[in-house]
Amino acid sequence: MLDTLVQQIKAKVGNAPKALIDFREISQDVLKQFGKNGVTGFITKNGKNMPLKWYAETLTRTHITKAANDAIISNAIKSGKTKVQVSSHAGACHLCIPYQGKIYDVLGRDNLDTPPLMPIYPNCRHLLIPLGE
Ligand SMILES: [Zn+2]
Repeated sequence: MLDTLVQQIKAKVGNAPKALIDFREISQDVLKQFGKNGVTGFITKNGKNMPLKWYAETLTRTHITKAANDAIISNAIKSGKTKVQVSSHAGACHLCIPYQGKIYDVLGRDNLDTPPLMPIYPNCRHLLIPLGE
């Protein structure tokens, strides 16, 4: 069922700019799908009970961010302007801090690394920023 939901999120997001994506509407749809499929909650590996609304929002946010980053990489390759920068924000976790603000080349040219696959973990909000060069 999760694979189907992820496909539905991807279909709704398409190639729309992140600012035009209705996060609330998509996460509400995901929540409804959980209800229709009789899903009442999620339990983590260590036994923690995760609220369904929180999980629906996490799934939605993570896949919107992934779709946005995938679109930026795809557009960079098409345009030939392949340099990108990882966004920066306060309170970033230890997994993302090493990447914040760094410049990458989606094709690994000019002695730059290719960008990390972002989001690195669920709810990661880091985006790739096209540099137009
Ligand atoms: Zn992050």
